[in-house]
Amino acid sequence: MAEDNDLVPPPLKNDCFALPSDTHWTPVAEALALLQERLDICVGEEYVALADALGRILSEDLIAQRSNPPQPNSAVDGFGLRHADIVNGPQSLPLVLGRSAAGAPYQGTVPEGHAIRILTGATIPQGVDTVILQEDVNTDGDVIAFHGPLKKGANTRKAGEDVAAGDVILVKGRQITPADLALVAATGVGALKVYKRLKVGVISTGDELAEAGDTARADQIYDANRPMLLAMILQFGFEPVDMGRAPDDRLAVKRFLDEAAMKSDLILTSGGASAGDEDHMSALLNETGAMALWRLAIKPGRPLALAVWNGTPVFGLPGNPVAAMVCTLIFAKPAMSCLAGAGWQLPAPQWVPAAFTKSKKAGRREYLRARLRDGKAEVFRSEGSGRISGLSWADGLVELPDEAMQVCEGSLVAYYPYTAFGLS
Ligand code: AMP
Ligand code: MG
Repeated sequence: MAEDNDLVPPPLKNDCFALPSDTHWTPVAEALALLQERLDICVGEEYVALADALGRILSEDLIAQRSNPPQPNSAVDGFGLRHADIVNGPQSLPLVLGRSAAGAPYQGTVPEGHAIRILTGATIPQGVDTVILQEDVNTDGDVIAFHGPLKKGANTRKAGEDVAAGDVILVKGRQITPADLALVAATGVGALKVYKRLKVGVISTGDELAEAGDTARADQIYDANRPMLLAMILQFGFEPVDMGRAPDDRLAVKRFLDEAAMKSDLILTSGGASAGDEDHMSALLNETGAMALWRLAIKPGRPLALAVWNGTPVFGLPGNPVAAMVCTLIFAKPAMSCLAGAGWQLPAPQWVPAAFTKSKKAGRREYLRARLRDGKAEVFRSEGSGRISGLSWADGLVELPDEAMQVCEGSLVAYYPYTAFGLS
């Protein structure tokens, strides 16, 4: 028979998400404000060729080296003429020999009272200031007949009407898009000064984890967080550094952190971030004295361990894949953008009617796996944070505010598509 002792069982909790009344749960907005205040650019600069610039972040304003267009040119296929020669009503003008085509401009001057064949993109020849559309003209090859009037400068593009040489075309902190590459190329820029790519190390922790594709013991689960986090980092435009899986062993975790700190500018770990027996990540980060275990008023998520390990910031994400992804999107993404030189960026929500009902309590912000169907946000059938299938089912997240909220069908809710975070 067991000896008597003072241990009493804890009172039963029928709501395991109840917030302890004596603990301060940091609201999401407060946590974000702290991150924004404390983080700054941590990467150097380099020049990259235009072909390598997609997704890179400008470290200085980019100046147009050339005007676009560099010279006046024709916006259409037609005939170039002088506006002063045009009268109201039917008229005809003789054509000069030759033409002006894109890349093969007419070299001479078009004399008064004459017109010239001109093609789209061709430089406007001397003596011409207006172009008439070929569809508005009859011609036998020697003369054109058409109706006036025409607006002066019609169907022409002025030199520099799009961008003038010397203009700032893109500002410091801009993450280069495919459209930006067109602008950069068009304005004569071949190399861009950018921040070095932010290197983000990813470590998974847990004795239960097996590598995707390997044979797993019955008691093991596959490491789902690492492939997800590495891919997210890549899509954000940063450089993922795969640091592998650490066992639940304090010394081993320490070695993983040491190595990751050498190889990356920021470390994302998942698992072991709470205060359990095998939560070596939070225990270790705590030992450095620089850790803050943020008990965040967020679901899913909650414990997020933030620390600096050998000078490198560490985000200790929760192990549950859903919480790991949500915490990465909500906290780590803006932090990474800041460290990488893109500044503090938060996505803007789309306000859409809900296709679900939910009674939400006050005291924490909640993120639901969601997608839009017929313009309405529908949510995944389960809120369980181990339900990885819901992450993939969803196209984004619905954010419910810190306050209590009764969501009815048709209530407006804040929806953030994954694309708003830079994911596809
Ligand atoms: P932990 O935070 O280490 O207590 O982990 C919380 C839950 O997430 C546990 O059920 C873990 O097995 C699970 N988990 C931790 N890391 C991963 C991972 N990399 N992939 C999938 N599940 C994980
Ligand atoms: Mg664990």
